[in-house]
Amino acid sequence: MREDGAVTVELPMLGSGKVRDLYAVDDAHLLLVASDRISAYDWVLPTEIPDKGRVLTALSAWWFSQLTDVVPNHIVSVDSPPVPAAVAGRAMLVRRLQMVPVECVARGYLAGSAVGPEDIEGQQLSQPVFTPTTKAAVGQHDEPMSFDDVVATVGADLAEALRDRTLAVYSPAADIAARRGLILADPKLEFGLSGDGTLVLGDEALTPDSSRYWSSADWSPGKPQISYDKQYVRDWLTGESGWDRATGSPPPELPPHVVAGTRERYLAAYELLTGAPLSA
Ligand code: ATP
Ligand code: MG
Repeated sequence: MREDGAVTVELPMLGSGKVRDLYAVDDAHLLLVASDRISAYDWVLPTEIPDKGRVLTALSAWWFSQLTDVVPNHIVSVDSPPVPAAVAGRAMLVRRLQMVPVECVARGYLAGSAVGPEDIEGQQLSQPVFTPTTKAAVGQHDEPMSFDDVVATVGADLAEALRDRTLAVYSPAADIAARRGLILADPKLEFGLSGDGTLVLGDEALTPDSSRYWSSADWSPGKPQISYDKQYVRDWLTGESGWDRATGSPPPELPPHVVAGTRERYLAAYELLTGAPLSA
């Protein structure tokens, strides 16, 4: 452990996203370490959320295993070893993929930037739709892509496979969430290609960072929903905090009650979905 609390992993670091740090294990494997960092509005916030990295890792592993019949995934192990003890619980050993540069969203409900002036916030769509976005570099904003944009980026065959797989994942995942009292509104998936050209689900799976989760019992279109995800932080940032996004100034530190409220929501999402609290 370093003095600033960060842990060191004795592997070559390949890069660092807003939330994860990537290390090379060998030619075919990576270590994906989920930090406690939280991002919103394309910023990494200056305050961490304790246990968030463990929730993201454990919940992704749980979802991958729920969905093995629907889609192959990149996970090799979350056990330590092979995961280094310093990051045990919040890291996974994965197959190295060639990531497809498209964020694959399955949208079952309208929320966030998908709500147009004529739309009812939170309304269910008559059927889930594939609403891909670009995968922007750090500091840039993910922009909506039409299906033709995806075809132009990755070719028609892969574009169709991305769309079909994304929707194929959404339907059983939404059913699983529904049985646990949660609406899975608009999950974002990332796929990659393995060495033999198989399309594999990579990155994280259906976490409160990458999906909106709403309480089914309280669902009420036309207003913001009771949610177990990042929305609580976004609402604080754009409301109470007084931060003006438009000025381009960095977001403020989160006060202790917002850190606690966010942590509780992430832990609750894990417990509601899996049926057991995150182990200590
Ligand atoms: P955010 O999720 O907030 O948009 P980010 O996209 O910057 O953040 P992180 O989630 O922090 O990225 O980092 C994970 C990175 O690792 C992503 O670039 C993702 O595409 C990549 N990645 C995930 N799984 C694999 C894999 N199996 N092989 C290669 N790269 C992967
Ligand atoms: Mg990511």
